[in-house]
Amino acid sequence: MANGHKYSITDLLGLKGFKVSDMREEEGAFVIEVQVKSEEADCPRCGSRDLYRHGKAKPRKALHALLNGHKVYLEIHGRQRCKCKYCGRTFTQELEIIKPRSRSTKYAEVLVLRLLSLMSFKAVSKLLKISYGRVKKVLMEALAMIKLPELVADDLKELHIGIDEHSFRHQEMAIMVTDVRAKRVLGILKDYRLSTLEEFLKKIPPHKVKEVCIDMKEGFRKLAQRLFPKADVVVDHFHVIANANKYMDEARRIEQDVTNKGKVKIPKKIFLVGFERLSEEGVKKLDELLSKYPNLKDFYWAKEKLRKLYSAKDKGEASKQLELVIMNLKASDDA
Ligand SMILES: [Zn+2]
Repeated sequence: MANGHKYSITDLLGLKGFKVSDMREEEGAFVIEVQVKSEEADCPRCGSRDLYRHGKAKPRKALHALLNGHKVYLEIHGRQRCKCKYCGRTFTQELEIIKPRSRSTKYAEVLVLRLLSLMSFKAVSKLLKISYGRVKKVLMEALAMIKLPELVADDLKELHIGIDEHSFRHQEMAIMVTDVRAKRVLGILKDYRLSTLEEFLKKIPPHKVKEVCIDMKEGFRKLAQRLFPKADVVVDHFHVIANANKYMDEARRIEQDVTNKGKVKIPKKIFLVGFERLSEEGVKKLDELLSKYPNLKDFYWAKEKLRKLYSAKDKGEASKQLELVIMNLKASDDA
């Protein structure tokens, strides 16, 4: 780079125009100390520009970024305190990069939103080591600013909608609507009610929607088909297998409770990993378990056949295999 100043680290960190006065490490985090220039301000109460300078505000620390797994804080120094000559109000200089009283900069909030389009609330909160409450707050504030008609009508000619439920603390859920192709968040709903989802989806022009990707929820499927009759409604294969695994494990638990009055544990994991990933010993063990607990056989093979479906060479073969799975399940004792 001939022009070394063009892409400096401070620009990359969104700190253009700030003077970095120090960097230090503090409890495993980086702290970047920046100095702000005082700017012309208006009184927030009366709009007057006739102000006394009233000293500097205390430094303010805010979460700013994540570098190699470490949190990066900004410590903002030198914000001007002012007092209005006209109405007497005292106030502190506001900055473009951070909302009043927020504990994270806008830069950090964008990071949170990006991460949330890739992973769960829990994962983001763990990665950034911030409470789920703060993650949620960032999200809800962003949501308040999203104006859907602008978002979906702009540059995307086709929409491939993904509907996902994200949980935080295993209990609270929120629905996130994304465009799976453009990898963009279209909206995050306040709750997981079907009516809230419907209200949101109704704002999307149906002719644009080519595909809707959902989990196994019957309600989602019906809603998607009703609102977007021309779109393909697809269940993500991750959810299909997760669902098969859920039934598999339920069957195992019931078997465990019923035989030997729950005193003997039936191993869990061996039934859930893919058959091809079992060692020779594992296969032997599996065979033993399946002949000892024959009720689990149908569940196990259904799960394995569903997994195999996804490596079928074409759609025709896959649908033949699927028919077979369905037929076998219908014929089983526990249909
Ligand atoms: Zn004033």
